[in-house]
Amino acid sequence: MEALRVEGVERAFGGLLALAGVSLQVAPGERRAVIGPNGAGKSTLFKVVAGELRPTRGRVYLRGREVTGVPQERVARLGLGRTFQRSNAFPELLVWENVALAYQAARGRSGHFTGPLSPGPEVEAALEQVGLSERAGVEAGRLSHGEKRQLEIAMALVQSPQVLLLDEPLAGLSGAERERIGELILGLDPRMTVMLVEHDLEYALRFAQRVTVLHYGEVVAEGEPEAIRQDPRVQEIYVGQ
Ligand code: ADP
Ligand code: MG
Repeated sequence: MEALRVEGVERAFGGLLALAGVSLQVAPGERRAVIGPNGAGKSTLFKVVAGELRPTRGRVYLRGREVTGVPQERVARLGLGRTFQRSNAFPELLVWENVALAYQAARGRSGHFTGPLSPGPEVEAALEQVGLSERAGVEAGRLSHGEKRQLEIAMALVQSPQVLLLDEPLAGLSGAERERIGELILGLDPRMTVMLVEHDLEYALRFAQRVTVLHYGEVVAEGEPEAIRQDPRVQEIYVGQ
């Protein structure tokens, strides 16, 4: 059974069809890159999969279970993790507290807070994995840009997602931060299914086992990285940038 299955998904914004009938399947443990020019519909696709946006047509299945139109908190509890381009962390809370909150939320305790936060082993492990253990006691708002991105990833990982969506996790990062977070993403647990939107074509092709190319809300090519690199439609799109 696929980790993720998207069937004929359309999403309109007024008269604009941001997704014009997208279908794709992602296997368990697969590394999938989604590439395409600005405005192609990549973020909209992730938002539809995550339950943040309803598709105007089509269906989404997570591990065989239909999640079309299911609210994002529930989709998250069904195993879908994601990072956000604008940080989702509370800047006045400590780094570890943000991760602990994410952990509690995944266990269905958000909204009915049951007790003090605690830095349990899951929280420690997530911080360790992203390289933020040393910064656990710092207010999230005081982190550097790159560290905030690491925190975002820790908040997603602590929820033990089966499928993780990363929308441009390297955007806006400096050289050293890029390197660090790029390596962190390449080293994620191979059992986890990861879908990545990334503007850097070389990185996307290095990361992915398969690549989906979106253009004007449609899948115009899909395949292994080398085939995608050679694809004339892909070259046309990327040369045009
Ligand atoms: P990408 O992530 O590939 O750059 P998006 O999915 O963000 O593209 O956007 C696809 C298209 O949908 C763009 O034309 C964008 O302007 C439009 N769009 C995205 N979100 C909205 C929205 N909330 N309201 C109106 N138009 C939107
Ligand atoms: Mg986008």
